[in-house]
Amino acid sequence: MEKYNAIIIGAGPAGYTAAIYALRAGKTCVIIEKLVPGGQMGTTAHIENYPGYTAISGWELTEKMKEQALTLGAAEMFGEVTEVDFSDGEKRVTVDENVISGDAVIIASGARPRKLGVDREDELMGKGVSYCATCDGMFFRGKTVAVSGGGNTAFEDALYLANLCKKVYIIHRRDTFRASPANVKKAEAKENIEFITDSAVCALVGEKSLSAIEVKNLKTGETASLEVGGLFVAVGRIPETEPFRGAVEMDEAGYIIAGEDTETSVKGVFAAGDVRTKSLRQIITACADGAYAGEAVGAME
Ligand code: NAP
Repeated sequence: MEKYNAIIIGAGPAGYTAAIYALRAGKTCVIIEKLVPGGQMGTTAHIENYPGYTAISGWELTEKMKEQALTLGAAEMFGEVTEVDFSDGEKRVTVDENVISGDAVIIASGARPRKLGVDREDELMGKGVSYCATCDGMFFRGKTVAVSGGGNTAFEDALYLANLCKKVYIIHRRDTFRASPANVKKAEAKENIEFITDSAVCALVGEKSLSAIEVKNLKTGETASLEVGGLFVAVGRIPETEPFRGAVEMDEAGYIIAGEDTETSVKGVFAAGDVRTKSLRQIITACADGAYAGEAVGAME
């Protein structure tokens, strides 16, 4: 069985930073990634709030973090973590068919977009239905699109799309928003953004790609059809914590309970980045978590 000082689950900003700190403290580590390195950062077109870069693509920032971790000696493993055993001092992690062991585990597996749960959503994904405005917005230049959601992501997506598209509908199930007043004000000031509140997307229309959506007013029950080429779903995120259920304490939404020091309910198991209970989920805060977790591993006997 392969053994490391730290098993890092997730190759996003939290995972890479944790590796950099643990390796610089003389520890060995492996970074496990299910699909493509970078996580949500990797699919962000422009990052303009990571200090040191006025603007950088998520892919490029991922490459830089990855190179730094690998140069310091991080091992990489691609596969899906299906099971963990944190029942004694030595931690065991099952990756596909392989079991590896570590003195510590840093869970940095991030979060994925929540789906709307409307019929044909999966079928039309990438054919008009998108979960990332900055990744896919340019494909809808000059077209009419809709954004579903009432949080900051939905508003920032709508503002981004309003600069590219002819018209943007914001469809939200209530008439008040979770988005910050500043974002709401900016969207209200845009002539090509129209709000459709107290409403939900109830059907997706289009043969090979999306051509329209059916929207139901949740107060009156009335349904209307909107011709749109794109639907951007921005209704929150779901933490990638399924394999850890029962192994560490989580909150009701499935986020792993841990403070700024990233320590979970299990000694030697840390949660860093978007998987952790926290108020601000950004690349920079994920990196901060990774630093705490990597430093803690470095200090382990
Ligand atoms: P969020 O704040 O949780 O908002 C999710 C939105 O989707 C809510 O308006 C919610 O409606 C709606 N929603 C949830 N499930 C739905 C469903 N099944 N059908 C229709 N609508 C549904 O998520 P977020 O916008 O992704 O933001 C996540 C966190 O990141 C927040 O803390 C946010 O402030 C932060 N963030 C910050 C920035 C920034 O500071 N620049 C940018 C983006 C995100 P209800 O309101 O009715 O529940």
